[in-house]
Amino acid sequence: MDCLFCKIINGDIPSTKVYENEYVFAFKDINPNAKVHVLVVPKKHIDSIDCADPSNICDIAKVIEAIPVVAKECGLANGYRVITNVGEDGGQSVKHLHFHILGGEKLPVKLA
Ligand code: 5GP
Ligand code: ZN
Repeated sequence: MDCLFCKIINGDIPSTKVYENEYVFAFKDINPNAKVHVLVVPKKHIDSIDCADPSNICDIAKVIEAIPVVAKECGLANGYRVITNVGEDGGQSVKHLHFHILGGEKLPVKLA
């Protein structure tokens, strides 16, 4: 499958890994929008959160479970923001489910 994040998970494309377990991979965003900007993804390819269903919800739960672990690893004791973009209107540019973890500073612009 021609998927950028599957290639990063496989190691075919290099990344700066911050966390990994059997189900989850987390790495630094190449174009950070905050002092800390990490992407947390399921190792299994899922297009976006819009595809959540009984067949993949355990993999998605593993990603969510990893978020506080990654945040702690990144020293985000003062808080952080989690974002997942979906589709065209949501501004999703990579079609492999990912949660952005942003922090390390007071974040600007609250949309929600
Ligand atoms: P989206 O726009 O789909 O929500 O987020 C995709 C994110 O992937 C963007 O923040 C972008 O900077 C990041 N990204 C795109 N290509 C690469 C890459 O090759 N390596 C890494 N580490 N991040 C990438
Ligand atoms: Zn993928």
